[in-house]
Amino acid sequence: MKKTIPTIALIVLFSWSVFVPTVVPAFATGQFLQMPIRVHHGPIICAIEPHADPNFPTVGKQLLDETEYAVIDWKAKLNQGLGRHPVWNITLVKVPISQQNSFNYTECDITIKYFPQPQKNSNGFIATGVTIPNFETGKTNIEIYYLDVEPNWIKKEWTVGGQMYYTYVDEPQYTGLVATSTQLDSTIRHEIGHSFGLGHYIVPYDRLRNIINGLEDMPSIMIDAVTILGVKHYDITPLDVAQVKSTYGDGGFDNPIQKKDYHHMVHQISMSKQYYQPGEEVTLDVNTGMFDDKSFAEILVIDSNNTMIENIGISKLNSTIPLGNAYQKNEKYLAEMINPITGDWDFASFTVGVPISQITNMNQNIPVLQTQIPSWVKNNAKLWSQNLIPDEEFVKGLEFLSVQGMIKIPHSIDENNLGRIPVWIKTAAKLWSTGEISDDEFVRGLQYLTDNGIIPAQK
Ligand SMILES: [Zn+2]
Repeated sequence: MKKTIPTIALIVLFSWSVFVPTVVPAFATGQFLQMPIRVHHGPIICAIEPHADPNFPTVGKQLLDETEYAVIDWKAKLNQGLGRHPVWNITLVKVPISQQNSFNYTECDITIKYFPQPQKNSNGFIATGVTIPNFETGKTNIEIYYLDVEPNWIKKEWTVGGQMYYTYVDEPQYTGLVATSTQLDSTIRHEIGHSFGLGHYIVPYDRLRNIINGLEDMPSIMIDAVTILGVKHYDITPLDVAQVKSTYGDGGFDNPIQKKDYHHMVHQISMSKQYYQPGEEVTLDVNTGMFDDKSFAEILVIDSNNTMIENIGISKLNSTIPLGNAYQKNEKYLAEMINPITGDWDFASFTVGVPISQITNMNQNIPVLQTQIPSWVKNNAKLWSQNLIPDEEFVKGLEFLSVQGMIKIPHSIDENNLGRIPVWIKTAAKLWSTGEISDDEFVRGLQYLTDNGIIPAQK
């Protein structure tokens, strides 16, 4: 006989922010998780108008407007009751497309960018927004995704001992339409809350179910649920305001006193290596010694534009983590850890491709040559870096340098094996051809590469 036993639907599989707990912690409900971000003065929030979207020609202006309302809302609620002496200063700067080339981005403490959906959607990451701290610079990026996310309840059945069980799981999806203003407005307020240092507000499952079904108002804008089906009423609530004030004190963001310690930086992650070749597997070592069975943490990998490349939930069981993507781009990445229970955070960087800083500092025992490199070699390098000439032409230049004794290549370069020239040599060639690194640095860099067998030598 078939017997169906309804189980509690697992609701929150995807978050609308950085936290995607893969191990749901037994965590006291009715409180905020930690988010180790602090602003150090009244923040300047820069809202960067998205590229024109032919499908939704007015969405860019709409997003800037919704962001303005969200900032006004945060400011008004924080300053409520302070009359003519508001202390919670937040400055919004809208950056329209026409000003984006000349805009001075260094003044932004928090930058909001808007995309239809996550840029790196390698593992079906569905979100309405993410908050991405950069622990190295102390600045925060927010990405708002403006495509509508709808819940997608899927019945999962399984059989144990002849009995059939089922549950419904939500695997939300993008509809292809622009999001409702409820989704956009609540997401923008939520992500700004993260950028002020609020973690998620945890409620028990049954309450969360009521909230999602529209039976109960959200007690906090920091509820973690992408599926806001049925949520008609959302707000920055007194709980949210109280949490910001307990973090910064009553004196506002500019008040230097009473900032609760957030120096929870603990050395818990490290890279096995500092430098990787493009496409090489990158592994991250996590010291999970301080984790217990219920701990979890989030790893974010971001590129130099603070774009999130991947996010991974980790538990006590993970100690070495292979990062999922093949890192091909020549640049520096940060791997960041956030533990939302303890507030611990840490970061480690790794570089894919040629370590430019290493080129300029390395190998002091190589005499500084008054290198005279013929202009055709440099010109070849430039053309090669722009993919305008084949590898062979660039290699001719290297061989010339070798013959001249400017660079010691152990054997002649295997021209049959040119496919193996790492892509990142092009970065160095480009920097050199445009004068950003000197002849000597370039030669020493190439020397480094050949010494380390990176430029393939013949047989
Ligand atoms: Zn969130």
